[in-house]
Formats: sequence, structure tokens, C-alpha cells
Amino acid sequence: MNIILLGPPGAGKGTQAHRLVVERGLVQLSTGDMLRDARTSGTEVGAQVAAVMDRGDLVTDEIVISLISEKLDGNISGNGFIFDGFPRTLAQADALSDLLKSKEQALDAVIEMKVDDEALVARITGRYTCSNCGAVYHDVTKKPTKDGKCDTCGGSDFTRRADDNEESLRTRLMAYYRDTSPLIGYYYAKDQLVRTDGLGEIDEVAARVGAVLEG
Ligand code: AMP
Repeated sequence: MNIILLGPPGAGKGTQAHRLVVERGLVQLSTGDMLRDARTSGTEVGAQVAAVMDRGDLVTDEIVISLISEKLDGNISGNGFIFDGFPRTLAQADALSDLLKSKEQALDAVIEMKVDDEALVARITGRYTCSNCGAVYHDVTKKPTKDGKCDTCGGSDFTRRADDNEESLRTRLMAYYRDTSPLIGYYYAKDQLVRTDGLGEIDEVAARVGAVLEG
């Protein structure tokens, strides 16, 4: 089962991907996480993309396609992949299609998560993640059950993203509407698109995503 979660920043892709990892054993491939890891570990790619990411622009197709290609190679025997934040351009979508074909894998569904812009701003400006396992929390809507302790792994170290501020968010939204939203038409034409409402409680959205996967 290989799926793409498609939607603007703050739509809940990472949150839902994390649940699918825990509940269904899928492997989450988030190019955003891979790029942030590259920055933390001080690789050449990390240095190359730092300013672009902080601004909220997209990094080059070449870089993200090569990151995804490497990860696909190492994980092909699992239960399947959730592509989270990839593809973000038509060139990336074509590259993913070729990569999957070359590994005799199919794309089972592209789940578009629809959320209006106002909700995106509120979600993004309050969010933080567990530094250990990547579980996503929010100052208002999803605090850990025990203050300061991750519900999933018990970790107590949390981080906020440098690009989760209003100015970068504006650029990221622009990049989404300009470069990524054409993928909605692309996958619709291939009969792979399923549109879901990304608003509401995390459990409600998870139930909608689950229904798509079972349907
Ligand atoms: P995300 O965690 O998916 O919101 O991604 C954070 C940032 O990483 C984006 O704003 C881009 O700068 C970069 N990025 C992540 N995935 C991609 C991608 N598929 N194509 C281009 N840039 C990406």
C-alpha cells in the first residue's frame, strides 16, 4: 500500500502519516524531515538548502528526488510508503511514477487533505514536535496528556520549526498554490485522487483517511 498525502502546509499530513506508521506499519517518507535531518547532521545538502527552507521556498527537484530515491531503495520490503510532502511539483510526480515503476511498486491512492487558509495559520503557529519520535503537538489543540512528556515515546525534548512563522508560511502557501496544487489535476486525471476534509479533530480526520485506505 503506497499512498501520497497531498495538501498545504499545516493540513495535517505529518500528523496523519505518523498515525499510519504506528497503526498500520507503513513507512513515512517525508522530504521535509529528510531535509531537516540533513541540516542537523551538517551535510553538504543540508547547507545548500538551509536558506531556501527558512524562507519557505521549494528546494530543487533534483535534491528531493535523489533523497526519495535513496530511501525507497532501503525500505522496499515493508508494508508500504506514505509520501508526505512529496511530490510537490509535476516534475517530482513524474519522477515518483518512474521510480515506483522501476521497483515494480504501484501508487494506491493520493489523498488530498483540504483545509482552509485561516485554519492553516492557526495550526502552524502553535505546533511543535517530539525531537525523539516526531509526534506532532499543538499549544491549544493537542497538548501531551502528561505535561512535557511525549504520549508516544515518553521523550521530554520538543522542537519548533524555524519556518513555522507567519512570513515563511505566506511563502510556503504561495509555493503550494503555484507549484503543488496542479498535482490535484494531475492525479485526478489518473483517477488516483481522493479528496478528504482535513478539518476537525485528529481522530475524525484519521477515520476519514482510514476509510479511504479500506475503501
Ligand atoms: P515540510 O516539512 O514538508 O513542510 O517541508 C519543509 C520545507 O522543506 C519546505 O518548505 C521546502 O523548503 C522543503 N521541501 C520539503 N519537501 C520538498 C519537496 N518535495 N520539494 C521541494 N522542497 C521541499
